[in-house]
Amino acid sequence: MNAPLPLTVTREAAGQGSEAVARATNEVAGTLARRLATETQGEVLFGDGDRGRYATDASIYQVLPVGVFVPRTSEDARIALDICRDLKVPVVPRGGGTSQCGQTVGAGLVIDFSKHVRNVVEVDATARTVTVEPGIVLDHLNAHLKKLALWYPVDVSTAAQATLGGMAGNNSCGSRSIAYGNMVHNVLGAEAWTSDGALHRFGRFEDSSGAARVLGERVRDMARSLAPEIEKRWPKVLRRVGGYNLDVFHNQNERPYTRDGSVNLAHLLVGSEGTLALTKSLTLQLSELPRAKVLGVVNFPTFYKAMDSAQHIVKLGGDGTLTAVELVDRTMIELSLQNPAFAPTVQAALIGKPDAVLLVEFAGADKAQLLRKLTELEQLMGDLGLPKSVVLMPDEAPQKALWEVRKAGLNIMMSLKGDGKPVSFIEDCAVPLEHLAEYTDELTQVFRKHGTRGTWYAHASVGTLHVRPILDMRQQGATRMRQIAEEASALVRKYKGAYSGEHGDGLCRGEWIRWQFGPKIDEAFGEIKRLFDPADLLSPRRMVNPPRMDDTRLMRFPPSYRVIPLTPALDWTAWDVQNDPATEKTTAPGTGGDPAHGFAKAVEMCNNNGHCRKFDAGTMCPSYRVTRDEQHLTRGRANTLRLALSGQIGSDGITSQEVRDALDLCVSCKGCKRDCPTGVDMARMKIEFLQADRARHGHSLRDKLVGRLPDYAALASRFSGLLNLRNRIPLLARLGESMAGFSARRSLPEWQQRHFFNDPPKGATRDEVLAAARPVVLFVDTFNGYFESPNARAAFDVLKAAGYTVHIAAKEKPDGKHLCCGRTYLSSGMVAEAKAKAGELLAAMKPFVDRGIAIVGLEPSCLLTLRDEMTTMGFGDAARALAGQSLLFEEFLARELKAGRLEEFRAKLKPMEGPLLVHGHCHQNAFDAVSPVLEVLKLVPGAQPQLIETSCCGMAGSFGYEAKHYDVSMQMAELSLLPALRAAPDATVVADGTSCRHQIADGAQRQALHAAVLLARQLT
Ligand SMILES: Cc1cc2nc3c(=O)[nH]c(=O)nc-3n(C[C@H](O)[C@H](O)[C@H](O)COP(=O)(O)OP(=O)(O)OC[C@H]3O[C@@H](n4cnc5c(N)ncnc54)[C@H](O)[C@@H]3O)c2cc1C
Ligand code: SF4
Ligand code: SF4
Repeated sequence: MNAPLPLTVTREAAGQGSEAVARATNEVAGTLARRLATETQGEVLFGDGDRGRYATDASIYQVLPVGVFVPRTSEDARIALDICRDLKVPVVPRGGGTSQCGQTVGAGLVIDFSKHVRNVVEVDATARTVTVEPGIVLDHLNAHLKKLALWYPVDVSTAAQATLGGMAGNNSCGSRSIAYGNMVHNVLGAEAWTSDGALHRFGRFEDSSGAARVLGERVRDMARSLAPEIEKRWPKVLRRVGGYNLDVFHNQNERPYTRDGSVNLAHLLVGSEGTLALTKSLTLQLSELPRAKVLGVVNFPTFYKAMDSAQHIVKLGGDGTLTAVELVDRTMIELSLQNPAFAPTVQAALIGKPDAVLLVEFAGADKAQLLRKLTELEQLMGDLGLPKSVVLMPDEAPQKALWEVRKAGLNIMMSLKGDGKPVSFIEDCAVPLEHLAEYTDELTQVFRKHGTRGTWYAHASVGTLHVRPILDMRQQGATRMRQIAEEASALVRKYKGAYSGEHGDGLCRGEWIRWQFGPKIDEAFGEIKRLFDPADLLSPRRMVNPPRMDDTRLMRFPPSYRVIPLTPALDWTAWDVQNDPATEKTTAPGTGGDPAHGFAKAVEMCNNNGHCRKFDAGTMCPSYRVTRDEQHLTRGRANTLRLALSGQIGSDGITSQEVRDALDLCVSCKGCKRDCPTGVDMARMKIEFLQADRARHGHSLRDKLVGRLPDYAALASRFSGLLNLRNRIPLLARLGESMAGFSARRSLPEWQQRHFFNDPPKGATRDEVLAAARPVVLFVDTFNGYFESPNARAAFDVLKAAGYTVHIAAKEKPDGKHLCCGRTYLSSGMVAEAKAKAGELLAAMKPFVDRGIAIVGLEPSCLLTLRDEMTTMGFGDAARALAGQSLLFEEFLARELKAGRLEEFRAKLKPMEGPLLVHGHCHQNAFDAVSPVLEVLKLVPGAQPQLIETSCCGMAGSFGYEAKHYDVSMQMAELSLLPALRAAPDATVVADGTSCRHQIADGAQRQALHAAVLLARQLT
């Protein structure tokens, strides 16, 4: 038999890049792709962009796969396995790709189960079991189970993106493992293919038959013969996930793997990281959703005391009600306090300035019993010398908010700018609780010795504290990593812990398996691998015959990593910094040595954690929600840009076709700017791409029509009758589609002969507003000015009725044109023109800004350009000052309301009846500017505005008008916005975005109002 293709095709072996891997395996890859395309229904992704995007996961590693396969059904996956076996191409199964140790990167065929193979096969509510396909995400499963008051309780922090197949692969563990155990404790059965193509049912050994039984018997025999060795070498902690679970036949875990002490063969697959079999389905044990939860936050004066107390606190769990004891240390507390979204929540949990806090949760059916547990906790802390150290949280809302902060812990840390990053390689070592204090203390000394430090957090209840020392992998990071790993391992051995206690082995910890279990057990692991996978087809060279953890040829940022010099159009210098690993202090902006002046470093902030794959509330990432494609995901885009900027894709850098394809469906909603934990701002990055791309390839007619709209709008409005024919004569619409790419299925905004700019209301002069007691400047944008003038007039009327002296922003020396923020130019790759517009606006607004007068706008994407992109155009303090004064209409009113200046105005509003729905523009969401809309609407007597939980409406400026994007645009609208509107046919709908209103009109045939119009209508 020929050996399979090498799994770890290193950068060196591959000849410095993706092309070489393709060459090395060209013929086989070609045949593989052809056969997959003809013999399956799945998606076959063999382009450089796709391979690059699947070359990484949430680890430090990067290995290009031969290709990527996205099966539509599990049958597709089986056929792919057969084809790979024929062609001797390794298979690397993958779920959400959130592994931290490189489990899902490898030079085989990556099979991504997460897109289609994600059905719930069967639920048995009485037996409390569920059978699922491997690609289903934990949160989605739990949403499905909620109506049955059941849940799957292995609550990993990545619950919104981790798949059950991946969780089983890694033997994942949740925050509440002290109560529910790890993945292995909650899996009842698995159907899986071994690499010979045979499908096996793995379940209770006693009941098993056929090949599965034979496999089980062989492993049982090994376990029997190695019993003394297992007893001697096996870590006796709950959180041991390294190696194969040979101990199913001779349990060493603190918690037996099964409730009745029987052996379950499916547990051999749990934690095998895709190296033994390809999972087709999993049968899982469910738990009752706890009816009540209470939380006690224990504040500690020293970190050591917190660690030392954990062993005593867990003893409160004798009755089974203790579900979590989670650590948050001082650094994490401080980082959270700096985040405006988290600060109030954290502050409410603190007593003074603790060095660490432990979140102690009790859950169960009887709230009174749980409250007694909190009293016991308080008494215990008194006995331990810390009276009055517990903040009690008996109610769910504050608990939930605090858990969100804890879950965001790692990501908060990862937002550190500069090349030094917290690196995961010893972050989940587990030690017995009685040694936790000494272990953490000594490891901290190790970090210090190596000139770095780490932040500690997470699972104190089970001795698995997360910590990531800060290392610069482009410099001495790999060497330091090895040294620290060696010294950490000595501590783990000293305290009889487990080196891999949560995140698995992958490329990072495979070599530590022999160290942990000794040569005999390691050889048995090799035998298990050969037994299940004699062809060495499934993720080879991981737990058996692994690479060195510090092999820089397998890394995403090896010392040879280089960025192609580039001069960005916008200012990215805030990212162009370095940090000191010991103090975490960052250098001044622009000093980081980035040849792309900070743009590359901003792109590199993506650490692949996969948070952008979530589907819950929040905006990020609409194009992924619609397509479920890695390519159309913030992470996929950031990876594509990183590869392009570092010359690893194509020769055209940022203007390569791969980047163009990846950014094509990005609607620039800025959802990632707010929701991405490390602040990847893809909307801003897309501006760089558009600028570079159009500079190289020129602007299309559509670009010019969209971009230059503010320039020709005055002239065009004079021919409104003629131009609006396009919306009435289908032939003209089709002509427009073929010439400029605007979808014939859409109406375009209607031109008005009489509009706000040629027929404005009489506002105050510049001098009048500068002298006024209650001044405001109304900045009217192109869209509300030319196409929806009633909105601008309504805003003017409302501001006047509220007692303000309103000046309408205009050029100091009128030239027939209006002031413009530059938004349309930015979205069409015309940054120079946008800067010119922004410069004009800045100059015109300066006197008002200097006087502290608010500049108020109506269209979120325009007004918020003043707060966002305009500050990156090189205007320095002037732009920052304008940003500080720029407010959306409702933000201004909400501010005034809070200051008590709107009481008279409130009295002028007549009541309204009926439901009132509000859709937030995604830029409003990104800038937390939606709640002011709700606050202001509540001024109307009887108004009870309800926010629709939506992502982007799908229109996104000109995106939805484009013929090639029409379908995706409508799918985005159908995600939640349009169904919510259809469910409330009588509701008044408020939407501040001009394109959102258009989408609502097209998709739901309803006329949405700007909030200003609703307020103006209610004026008596
Ligand atoms: C910020 C962050 C926080 C995290 N928090 C936690 C935590 O709280 N607890 C925890 O345990 N982990 C945590 N992890 C690690 C990771 O999220 C979990 O291990 C998660 O369960 C992996 O799920 P996934 O779908 O991304 O799997 P992937 O990473 O895609 O795959 C995991 C393993 O499963 C294998 N696999 C996937 N599908 C199949 C299949 N069909 N057949 C066979 N093998 C398959 C893969 O080959 C791989 O070896 C965290 C990671 C990050 C980045
Ligand atoms: S883009 Fe942000 S959320 Fe998505 S994987 Fe990267 S860092 Fe995580
Ligand atoms: S800007 Fe919006 S569409 Fe684009 S990557 Fe970010 S969240 Fe996704």
